Amino acid sequence: MKTLAYIFCLTLFLSVSNNTDAFSQLQTGTLVSKFFPDPDIEINTPGFSHSDGFMKYNDMMNYLQMKADKRSDIVKITFIGESISGKKIPLVYLGKKSGNPTLKIWMQGGLHGNEPAGTESILMFINELIEAKNIDSILNYISFAFVPMANIDGYEKQVRLNDNKADLNRDQVKLEQKESVYLKQAFSDFAPAVAIDFHEFRPFRKELDKFSNKKLCIAQDILFLPSGNLNIPVQLRELTNLVYLSDVKEILGKNEITFNNYFVPDQDGNGMNVLRMGGDSPRSSSTSFGLTNAVSILFEIRGIGLDRNSYKRRVFSGYLIARSIMETTLANRAKVLETVNASINETIKRANPIVLDSKPLGYQGSMDFIDVKNLEYVSLDMQIQDVGRSQSVSTRKRPKAYLLLAENAPIVRKLQILGLVVDTLKSDVKIKTEVFMLEPNDTKPGLPPDSSIRISKQKRVFPKGCFVITTAQKNANLAVSILEPEMENGFFKYEMIKANSEGEIPVYRLLTEVKSSKRIR
Ligand SMILES: [Zn+2]
Repeated sequence: MKTLAYIFCLTLFLSVSNNTDAFSQLQTGTLVSKFFPDPDIEINTPGFSHSDGFMKYNDMMNYLQMKADKRSDIVKITFIGESISGKKIPLVYLGKKSGNPTLKIWMQGGLHGNEPAGTESILMFINELIEAKNIDSILNYISFAFVPMANIDGYEKQVRLNDNKADLNRDQVKLEQKESVYLKQAFSDFAPAVAIDFHEFRPFRKELDKFSNKKLCIAQDILFLPSGNLNIPVQLRELTNLVYLSDVKEILGKNEITFNNYFVPDQDGNGMNVLRMGGDSPRSSSTSFGLTNAVSILFEIRGIGLDRNSYKRRVFSGYLIARSIMETTLANRAKVLETVNASINETIKRANPIVLDSKPLGYQGSMDFIDVKNLEYVSLDMQIQDVGRSQSVSTRKRPKAYLLLAENAPIVRKLQILGLVVDTLKSDVKIKTEVFMLEPNDTKPGLPPDSSIRISKQKRVFPKGCFVITTAQKNANLAVSILEPEMENGFFKYEMIKANSEGEIPVYRLLTEVKSSKRIR
């Protein structure tokens, strides 16, 4: 692959911002030139053909089509569906039409419309790949699916949400938005071994005013969010953290790009300042991907509210990460394949209990920020709540399968989009089951506390037509994270499945295998 000369231009980079965000006024002139200088490279993606604003959907489509036309033997553009305003959402497939099975890498960007550098980074990476001399040998081992602009309507307006004012990265379980449904279906169909989601973060945050009497902003170029969800097999989380992220961090360090694990400044119940680090919610991509037994990383580039400031640096950082992910996959392909397959096998064998609840590891740590007025780094000591290093608090044995009633067909459809295999009962079946019951005084509307959910063992007859979701399948970790009623991002807590008048929650844990069923599509 072509090696660019990554030499940073340290000359003064002055930028005029037309963004009305008051904080972005601080991110100009000397702060940028001191801490975030642009690299001295040329980038030919559409956003760099002008010096203000960001690319439009049509700019991206023309660019992608031009690239695809160059190598129609290995590049294929398909459309996974339409945005609310009717724009077709492209998926760029890069791979050989025939040959041995490859490791599949999924990369998506622009889920939040006001995070333009992610989309631009993906286009830069696609261009580099297509132009690379050794692309044909890379494709002997890897195939790629890219969705560079997942939220087209938001991107066109440079706003976070889609046209229904919904946050697509909080919709990965509910799947209420059409963009979410198309994206998830395409992801499930592709079933990647490695999945990366490109975002940007806001460096100027009001919460930081509580941390110091100085005006501070977040100092790092990149924040990484690998999932800390304990229902993702441990060897997969270790491969992500110890191999993939370790390689990425080394490359970023060589290019003087700074990084940390993802954190948000916050306050605990006692008003003490804390940094909440990492994440584990299946409603957002990093965890949702990980629960399908893929290496999964969401990362954020320092960018929201900065308009075009540091744009070349932001795009270049995202590109470096994409390239590093590919190189790590190539260099460790046997290990990656082995780890992903071992995780899938462990899941299918129901080897581990379900982690119902976990608590983040708390410790004293320090974090660097930038003092905006004095233009210097400030290191603050504070309490860190690290979800990336959570401890299990309560567990439950895996059932052989979950059973849902025929009336819950819309929910079942969502499970299928999430890549779960669903069967239906061909005839009435009497089977040993565990039934979730709410304590009698908790049957009124509203969410009951977890402690009021009881399980009773019963032999039940379920009628023909009920849905059965076996836990002996690749994406079973997603099923357990959505169907156990105590789960924060589950169907019960989201009130997509409701208790009946007797307080019974119609999600049944089957304790023996079901024989009489047929697979539905
Ligand atoms: Zn985002």
